Amino acid sequence: MCGILGYTGERQASDILLSGLAKLEYRGYDSAGLAVLDNGNIKIAKNKGRLKILEERIKAGQEISGTCGIGHTRWATHGEPSDINAHPLWSDDMSVVAVHNGIVENYREIKNMLANYGYEFYSQTDTEAAVKLIDFYYKQEKNPLKAITQAIKKIEGSYCFVLLFKDFPNEVWGARKDLPLIAGQGKGESFLASDVSAILQDTRQVYYLDNMEIVQLKKGLVRFFDTEGYAKHKELSEVTWDAQAAEKGGFEHFMMKEIHEQARAVKDTFGSVFHSNKIDLGEMGLTDERIKAISQIYIIACGSAYHAGAVAQYVIEDLAKIPVRIELASEFRYRNMPMDKNALAIIISQSGETADTLAAMRRAKENKINTLAIVNVVGSTIAREADSVFYTMAGPEIAVATTKAYSAQLIASYVLAVKFAQVRGTIDELQCENLISEIQKLPEKIDEILDEKEPLEEIAQKFVNARNAFYLGRNIDYAVAMEGSLKMKEISYLHSEACAAGEMKHGPISLIERGMLVAGIMTQKDLYQKIASNMLEAKSRGAFLFVVSTRGCKYLKEEADFIFNIPETDEHFSASLSVIPLQLMGYYVAVARKLDVDKPRNLAKSVTVE
Ligand code: GLU
Repeated sequence: MCGILGYTGERQASDILLSGLAKLEYRGYDSAGLAVLDNGNIKIAKNKGRLKILEERIKAGQEISGTCGIGHTRWATHGEPSDINAHPLWSDDMSVVAVHNGIVENYREIKNMLANYGYEFYSQTDTEAAVKLIDFYYKQEKNPLKAITQAIKKIEGSYCFVLLFKDFPNEVWGARKDLPLIAGQGKGESFLASDVSAILQDTRQVYYLDNMEIVQLKKGLVRFFDTEGYAKHKELSEVTWDAQAAEKGGFEHFMMKEIHEQARAVKDTFGSVFHSNKIDLGEMGLTDERIKAISQIYIIACGSAYHAGAVAQYVIEDLAKIPVRIELASEFRYRNMPMDKNALAIIISQSGETADTLAAMRRAKENKINTLAIVNVVGSTIAREADSVFYTMAGPEIAVATTKAYSAQLIASYVLAVKFAQVRGTIDELQCENLISEIQKLPEKIDEILDEKEPLEEIAQKFVNARNAFYLGRNIDYAVAMEGSLKMKEISYLHSEACAAGEMKHGPISLIERGMLVAGIMTQKDLYQKIASNMLEAKSRGAFLFVVSTRGCKYLKEEADFIFNIPETDEHFSASLSVIPLQLMGYYVAVARKLDVDKPRNLAKSVTVE
């Protein structure tokens, strides 16, 4: 899931690469490294740990001058995080130096083959095998394009390489399969990067590489080739994202900034499909005939996107009366389930590059199932391969733990649910108008919750040393409990489980101990009493009851240790409000534990490996 970069131009490559890598560090932070090509010499600086360490070494005088270079920030898959396993990796005479994102699955085979030709290996990475394979072909004709095309025919797995060839001054080469790479075009300079945020301060003119494409940068020049080495023409695109959006804007952490951007993300996402007082999905190709023909929906996603999908399942089934199955992409891709040809597969991914989700989408397509992707990153692989795309308008999300992209995914789901219901006649016009007006009021209500966040900071202090927590809910509240629990565990490292409240008594309740945090979400009137009973069962065993309930809910007033009230809304949309205090709880506990909120250990944002 590493972040990779390339630059060639007039400026010092190390300055550009270090500032670009800072934007990509969310993709991995096990190590950082640079290689710069200068006068036929390639200089390398790399180390285990954060980019900051590398920056300090370069500031302290490590020689890395030159105007053409590559950079990397790693999320280790093969070989522990260490100085030697850090990228860039090189061939023994430094003819070829590369950074890599992905996994070379047949690296053992490649190593064995190369060993027969006298190659030796100094790292435990899969990447070194690929670099030396490219070197092996390069030695034959000293032709970078030929070397790359020959090597990628042998390499199995997913990858994105960015390379320097010692004998080709001012040139950077790249190739991709199933992992993202974009090329940026500036004046007299050009760039390669895993995503646009890394080069936004320098250019907005980008090319999105297709799968199995090869790219060559020369100063200000970008050329593309297919795997046979034939030149290809590609269109430039203009990035409209605001560069400011990738800065912290006065907040201590990106996560808190992004929590505060949720009202805007919700508003913009809804605004993008609401024209002349109507939900308009025409641009997505979702005509009324197609909507009427849907017999079944599969929602396929991972992590928080899966949790957004879990909310969508309840909302779509209840409003549009279409059966919905929610599937984990990593399971779906390897399952042999019979699929209904008239089904719609809704694929949810913030980055649009999630490896499992992409593979699952391809599987649905192989089965001739129509695919609709809910994606945040424009031009990402999932967006380009899906039959239609619903772009969430969250803008760049930097914190590893998602907040605003999740909120925008919820809105996309509501829009689909309401539109499907309207077209299929399961709601009347008045109900439709009311639902739309409730969605429109959500941004204001989200901000209202944020204005009342203070007590959460205080209550979070109680859990600085906690070891376990439960999040309980039923129906939509269970889907939100899953997201709340994930927010807590991923950034604060407090072990937390979400449980469908009714399931507690079938096993998990035996884990309750005195003082343990049990969070209950209560937004569905018909289920208030049921969940209240489950919370009381936990209380009787010593739990600390933390309740998020809709204003007006009369339950647990006496028994709860803490209640956070959220404004009333249509119950279908309550997840958009109840998740906010849960995001804040995760954040405040992590801050109280003095953890790196934006870059939690072992994680990376865009999960581009299996
Ligand atoms: N497989 C390479 C390594 O472990 C790259 C990892 C990645 O893309 O996250 O160094």
